[in-house]
Amino acid sequence: MSHAENCIFCKIIAGQIPSKKVYEDEELFAFHDINPAAPVHFLIVPKRHFKNLMDANSQDEAILGRMLTIAPRLAIEQGCRPGESGGFRVVINNGADGGQEVYHLHMHIMGGPRPWKKN
Ligand code: AMP
Ligand code: ZN
Repeated sequence: MSHAENCIFCKIIAGQIPSKKVYEDEELFAFHDINPAAPVHFLIVPKRHFKNLMDANSQDEAILGRMLTIAPRLAIEQGCRPGESGGFRVVINNGADGGQEVYHLHMHIMGGPRPWKKN
């Protein structure tokens, strides 16, 4: 499935719901979290809809790798501080027990000087 009806992140990717875009290419979209938990907080999502890691399969391996490898570049562009005294957190919530609220796989990138709203 490339697109799911009534999926808020598919609608953001399609431009049907506004977002503060951070990055876009053929496969990936990144935008600021509407309720930031840290001074820098954005989401990286695959354009192809799948729910979470439990719903991923071998055709998603490349895109999952790209999400991880593009994260440092986008984090620095968005104001995360470089080096070991800086850095950023990467979170993917999966299912209800994993704290997932939106069922289109997304990777949280959080950074910036502490304290944060959530530790
Ligand atoms: P999760 O709990 O991992 O499913 O996180 C979903 C995240 O999506 C939360 O941090 C929300 O603040 C964020 N979110 C929900 N709706 C929007 C939206 N319209 N634009 C940006 N972020 C959103
Ligand atoms: Zn979706």
